[in-house]
Amino acid sequence: MAYGKFAEVVLDIPLNKKFHYKIPPSFINQIEIGKRVKVPFGGRTAVGYCVGLTDKSDVKTIKDIIRVIDTEPILNSKMLRIAEWLANFYFCGWGEALETFLPSVVRKGINAKTVSVVRLCKDGASVKEMISIIKKRAPKQARVLEVLSEVGEITFPELASISNCKMDSINRLRDRGLITLDKRKVNDSLFAGKHFKKTCHLQTTGEQETAINLIKRKLRERQYGTVLLKGVTGSGKTEVYLQAISEVITLGLKAIVLVPEISLTPQTIERFKSRFDRVAVLHSSLTDRQRSDQWWDIKNGNADVVIGARSAVFAPLEDVGLIVIDEEHENTYKQDTTPRYNARDVSMIRAEYENALVVLGSATPSLESFYNAVIGKYEYVTLKNRVGNKPLPRVEIIDMRHEKYRGKNQKYISDYLELCMKQCLSKKEQVLLFLNRRGFSPFISCRRCGFVLKCKRCDISMTYHKNKAAVICHYCFSEEPVPEKCPECCSPGISFLGVGTERMEEDIRARFPQYKLLRMDSDTMRGRDSHEKALSAFGRGDIDILLGTQMIAKGLDFPNVTLVGVLSADTIVNMPDFRAGERTFQLLCQVAGRTGRGSKGGKVIVQTYNPEHYSIKFAALHDYDGFAKKELEYRKQLYYPPYGRLARIVLRGKKDQDVKKKSMDIAEKLREAIRLTTGAAQSDRHKDKVEVLGPAPAPIARVKDNFRWHLIVKADNSENLSTILKNIENENRYSKKVQIMIDVDPYMLL
Ligand SMILES: [Zn+2]
Ligand SMILES: [Zn+2]
Repeated sequence: MAYGKFAEVVLDIPLNKKFHYKIPPSFINQIEIGKRVKVPFGGRTAVGYCVGLTDKSDVKTIKDIIRVIDTEPILNSKMLRIAEWLANFYFCGWGEALETFLPSVVRKGINAKTVSVVRLCKDGASVKEMISIIKKRAPKQARVLEVLSEVGEITFPELASISNCKMDSINRLRDRGLITLDKRKVNDSLFAGKHFKKTCHLQTTGEQETAINLIKRKLRERQYGTVLLKGVTGSGKTEVYLQAISEVITLGLKAIVLVPEISLTPQTIERFKSRFDRVAVLHSSLTDRQRSDQWWDIKNGNADVVIGARSAVFAPLEDVGLIVIDEEHENTYKQDTTPRYNARDVSMIRAEYENALVVLGSATPSLESFYNAVIGKYEYVTLKNRVGNKPLPRVEIIDMRHEKYRGKNQKYISDYLELCMKQCLSKKEQVLLFLNRRGFSPFISCRRCGFVLKCKRCDISMTYHKNKAAVICHYCFSEEPVPEKCPECCSPGISFLGVGTERMEEDIRARFPQYKLLRMDSDTMRGRDSHEKALSAFGRGDIDILLGTQMIAKGLDFPNVTLVGVLSADTIVNMPDFRAGERTFQLLCQVAGRTGRGSKGGKVIVQTYNPEHYSIKFAALHDYDGFAKKELEYRKQLYYPPYGRLARIVLRGKKDQDVKKKSMDIAEKLREAIRLTTGAAQSDRHKDKVEVLGPAPAPIARVKDNFRWHLIVKADNSENLSTILKNIENENRYSKKVQIMIDVDPYMLL
């Protein structure tokens, strides 16, 4: 029922603006806030979301709504408000934000599959009587009644296979008023045919108990709040989540659990499914039908727990009491396309609207979350010990500068790592080798003139992929044949420098021919379930050495892995990004956590050319607090997060001159705005609280034939950051010449 003459509608466009439309009398009873509407827009029709109703409008020529799409509001008012917040905070359109709330299958309206259910509607005696009456004349119908009198209710396909009946028999029985025929949604196709053995709470350690009690107490308060749960790898964080969720369900509330996409394995899902009955999963590798089913299941109130990747933070759940974010430091929670939201931060906003509790879990919390815990903004609880008091593995650092070259070739495996591998493998234990770079060789260079082969379209060196006999750009995926001679000086002395997983595989196979090796990277794991198959083969012990990229860094728990080799800790350390140190530390801790899980213990060997780097040293000591202290000092000096908030503005276009000029204009506009807001009248203390750095060419100055410039806006808090950015909000961000992208709280500065 409408309470106004006009609908306020937002559209999927990069404009944070509400448009007014007239509600024709025939739609007065249909229109509602939260429903989608079809409206005329700029000479075409568009689908928008009704976000408000009003009696007044200043718009001169106001158009009519063409159609109301939904029969029920597809989004509740909380979700609309969260989308509005998201649009304001991340500088995108309100409608654009809403588009991310609904999976595209739901927007397109792929309806859930339905099945007909047949049910008796007469009592037993009269059915028996009827059977004897029609048995001769209509044996098929009689047979249907016989089956139904046993089971009462059955789906049509099942009934058809048992009684060999057709739809016309069913229809006749229905016409006689003996049975009913209803459509029912097929729900559980994702879990069809799967059985989950129910499990109970596991025995908890004292530390886990403390964490669970704290969370339970907070949950009962039914107030917005955040708990940071820092627990070393293997300390049983998941059990804490499970028992917290159990409390949530007891309280009659519901829970959302976010996990990084890569950890959303069948094992993870099984752990939740075996503990709780009504679990829904939102996952990128679901089929359209499954995703639509899961979403509607949640929407219709059939789930108590939703597990999913980033976008599950928008799950249409009511009465949310708890949002868990596992591995909260992971950069996969940040979306790298519009809207560039961070699911961790969105979850806090959602929790505020829902009076829910957020639990952030990690072995290596982001500096932002750790800082908030230290200053008391979050509750803080730690699990310092692994379950079963297993020690954390010993980590040894190998200084690769001291390794001798093998002939002409650079060495990729130190003598020590090779020795340890031999010892480990001879005891029939397993080895995990980690290398964060795929392909054969990441640099193709001329020995004579030093030329480095770069992508023609991007400012990125090409990676040699031997099995494809091609060089590939990992940014734009363009492929070229391997050059036979230097494109610059025509010398034939092309060399392939550096090492990727493909070259490493070749090297290790040559050194350990008697052992089975499997390489896991995005080149070898292309199939839908290849990842799953590979891991179960490794779990069964069919594979001795597992070599892989970050794909193998997380979540794996194989007790027979007693050696982890990090082939190069340097791939991230040297990145021109203020988070490089944090990422290196996190990655090393994660990888190290893959061993020492069984009774045989475990060891980690880290190869590096930067053995003095504090990230590597603290990671080797499993010393998060030491690392955080050092890293926070450095962040504080430079005013980087968590001490300040950042936004990055990236401009790109075909002509370098245009991009540069526009970047200068934007920078000037922002600086002018800062001068106006901070003003000369204010005390000096307020100065420099907002600052613009740049513009400068982006570290990757060209991608796909587009030149890139960027500038960074630093502010002491997000309100001030927002105020300044508002000044460029209405720039034409999609002009043909130069496109402008605003990234608030960026994760990557490349
Ligand atoms: Zn050359
Ligand atoms: Zn490229």
